Amino acid sequence: MSDCIFCKIIAGEIPSKKLYEDDDVLAFWDISPQAPVHFLVVPKKHIAGPAEVTETDDKLIGKLIRIGAQLAAENNTGDAFRVIFNNGAKAGQEVFHIHLHILGGKDKPWPI
Ligand code: 5GP
Ligand code: ZN
Repeated sequence: MSDCIFCKIIAGEIPSKKLYEDDDVLAFWDISPQAPVHFLVVPKKHIAGPAEVTETDDKLIGKLIRIGAQLAAENNTGDAFRVIFNNGAKAGQEVFHIHLHILGGKDKPWPI
């Protein structure tokens, strides 16, 4: 999607600090971390948010969680990390390309 910041990151048009990439998924460090470990996992397919996920995407969204948990374990979260999807501006969603936040590296990594 042409005016989507995460599509531009996926296309390499905007730089990011990547943790992981395959044909379906990209993970990169959040530009404004809210915890010692804070990264995002996004599908390469543009889906605006959780409310736009369809049955076709079930496997892809499961993969986001699996990759996020794997990367959390590899990046010093121990077994304690938070997994968040925001849906809608009122819930704090700022980028309308679905993304999984992984937050960790401290106890109770709120507030996001
Ligand atoms: P949301 O509030 O939509 O759930 O989360 C969007 C997240 O994307 C925020 O945590 C924000 O810091 C992060 N973010 C926004 N723009 C960029 C960017 O250009 N690069 C990176 N790495 N993160 C971004
Ligand atoms: Zn997008």
